[in-house]
Amino acid sequence: MKKGGNAEQSILIVGCGISGATAARVLAEEGHRVTIIDQRTHIGGNCYDHWDENGICVHDYGTHIFHTDNRKVWDFISRFTKWYPFQHKVRGLIDGQLVPIPFNLNSIHQVFPAKLAQRLEDKLLEKFGYNIKVPILKLRETDDEDLRFLAEYIYKNIFSFYTQKQWDLNPEDLDPAVTGRVPVYISKDNRYFQNRYQGIPLSGYTAIFEKMLNHPNITVRLNTKYEDIRHMINTVENSQTTGKVGQMASDAITVDFILYSGSIDEYHAYVLGELPYRSESFDFITFGREYFQSEAVINYPNNYTFTRIVEYKHFLGTVSDKTVVSYEYPEPFVRGKNERYYPIVNDTNQLLYNQYKAKADTDRVNSKVPVYFFGRLGDYKYYDMDKAVERAMALVEEIAA
Ligand code: UDP
Repeated sequence: MKKGGNAEQSILIVGCGISGATAARVLAEEGHRVTIIDQRTHIGGNCYDHWDENGICVHDYGTHIFHTDNRKVWDFISRFTKWYPFQHKVRGLIDGQLVPIPFNLNSIHQVFPAKLAQRLEDKLLEKFGYNIKVPILKLRETDDEDLRFLAEYIYKNIFSFYTQKQWDLNPEDLDPAVTGRVPVYISKDNRYFQNRYQGIPLSGYTAIFEKMLNHPNITVRLNTKYEDIRHMINTVENSQTTGKVGQMASDAITVDFILYSGSIDEYHAYVLGELPYRSESFDFITFGREYFQSEAVINYPNNYTFTRIVEYKHFLGTVSDKTVVSYEYPEPFVRGKNERYYPIVNDTNQLLYNQYKAKADTDRVNSKVPVYFFGRLGDYKYYDMDKAVERAMALVEEIAA
């Protein structure tokens, strides 16, 4: 690579989601030739969105709100979009009221009688201080009787059933970082995220991907599974095994290395077992009225089999006399039936991932065409979009060094 003084290289990237597209763009701008493939019919992975007949931008694979503290990441994505300055706020139906989530001081005053609420607030401030985020599993460990009562209330009313629906697990059977994403917030700030940079792309996410991938050094191939082209990759190794140096199909792909953002177990034909994931299905419903609900997202931690209802027009402040919402139903990921959305991060699954990673690291040393894994599926990590961008940039940087 240029930075390391290496010449122009050919790189195959598997997966056209935010990880793959970021890596493709950075590499292309460094002068390398990139072929990026995806098995789906569209770019953008699970960030993909489209505009419906009422001019409302719908996120096909669930709601995506871009938020980051990383200026470099924000500036990078901002090259491909202008932003609607959306500040995400979520409410949850708790005891018949729509209460701010993450549960905060306003939530406390909304659900409890005034005297009790004040006592709880005072105790939280005394024990933790103001503007502090406390994961629910940590709050449950407190020995103060009032705070234990509060912790049990929040655990039961916000986390327990929602997490059952979302993961088919109890909160304590997941990596604490998962429920820690939505901590109890000792604050009056009702926003879901406090990051410095936050917004929704004005022209949608798909448009970002179109711009990112629109570069003379990038070739995009959709409807293309890695498995289907593996044999066509014109590597020294393949040439040796087939004995057909220079005789490969005219659309053979010559690569120096591979960046793989698909699932690491799939790449290895599941030889060590299958890494579990959660998937989602969405019921999209258009209503002939201006609004369905007060916020973009309402959570249902105590009711129904769906976890949340998303009303899309809120994200960009779209004006229409119709509105579209989605009911979100978590479900297990099943190969060939649905898509991977969330790695199920706990000790057991991490162990299996670690074994795949060790295998990948060993294979890379012994291979003429190194394969690097990254992204939510390649790293088996619950990345937000900004973290996926950060990771893709760091990987490209690391390989270049
Ligand atoms: N969570 C919950 N109740 C809520 C919101 C979140 O129990 O009302 C838990 C749940 O386990 C969820 C996790 O916190 O999967 C992370 O929530 P987040 O909103 O970050 O999930 P995402 O938007 O990525 O699906």
